[in-house]
Amino acid sequence: MNPRTATARQLGLMSCHDCRLLIETRNPQAPGRCPRCGAHLHSRKPNSLTRVWALILAAIILYIPANILPITITSTLGVKQKDTILSGVIFFFQTGSWEIAAVIFIASVFVPFAKLMILIYLSLSVQFRSTWRPKDRTALYRLTESVGRWSMVDIYVLTILVALVKLGAIATIEAGPAAIYFASVVVITMFAAESFDPRLIWDVIEEDYDGQPSG
Ligand SMILES: [Zn+2]
Repeated sequence: MNPRTATARQLGLMSCHDCRLLIETRNPQAPGRCPRCGAHLHSRKPNSLTRVWALILAAIILYIPANILPITITSTLGVKQKDTILSGVIFFFQTGSWEIAAVIFIASVFVPFAKLMILIYLSLSVQFRSTWRPKDRTALYRLTESVGRWSMVDIYVLTILVALVKLGAIATIEAGPAAIYFASVVVITMFAAESFDPRLIWDVIEEDYDGQPSG
């Protein structure tokens, strides 16, 4: 990293969030709209941290019913069985399908949890103006962005499971109430990652180097 590299904000430049056009702004406080696509211009995502915290909080709240409520309701010859995500994992593990157990555990328990933890850590580090290893923190952010879509694997597994079991006449399977909470957690966490502006990680370092707030 070369600390003498100027940032776009220092040069009075702004990139449009929608069409990525680079624009010279005379008044950074009120940059107006993009001359090409008409989107509102911001040098940083507006209220990034506040939005991320609100979405993280919502995801944590929904994470609880997603794990406590049943995700599948199976009935075999009139006997109903309700399974949560974890009891499903245990069931597949005990019946020898440890590959399915591993996929469900990684996609539905580990990944959403790890992603929330990473987002909380990144937000805290920006909130407390950390200057510790910005490059690694940026890499961590990219990881949360790329891994998010895989959490939906569980919803696909559930869909396939329901379709497969429906083919048999003896057993029926339905998606339980946890499914909707789980899907909400995944989507909200994706929005939280999208709302986080990784440039905030670097702003603190630029300000430290210049000895004054940049921008
Ligand atoms: Zn634009």
